[in-house]
This record gives sequence, structure tokens and C-alpha cells, in this order.
Amino acid sequence: MNKGKIGIVKTACQRCGAPISMLSRSLFGADDLHAELGGICSACLTPEEDRRILEGTMQAALAAIAEAVAE
Ligand SMILES: [Zn+2]
Repeated sequence: MNKGKIGIVKTACQRCGAPISMLSRSLFGADDLHAELGGICSACLTPEEDRRILEGTMQAALAAIAEAVAE
């Protein structure tokens, strides 16, 4: 398996145990959010957590773009 390649991992929701598919690693380096909330199915995510994922992903994406532009 290539290191750094993003794949789909089958796992179980940390809260209800429902089978879910998640990315093997986070997009754009939002690793903390991915570790904390990546293993939870959408039915178990609260609106607050949903919002945190969205904001965290956006911020990480913006940071990645800013880094790319600076090079
Ligand atoms: Zn769940």
C-alpha cells in the first residue's frame, strides 16, 4: 500500500456500531477532527459536530491553498 494514499476504510460507528465507510486519512490535513469525528456515522453526528467538521475542513483547505500559493 502506498504511503500517503487516501483510501476507503470500512469501519463501525463509534457510537451506534453501524457499518460506515471512512477515508483512511483526512483530506487537507484536518487530522485532529478526522481522529475525533471520522469514525462516527452521519446519523450520530450532532449539528454542532457537523459544523465543526465543515469549518475544520474549510480552514485546513484554505491553509493548504495559501501554502501552495506561497511557493
Ligand atoms: Zn452511528
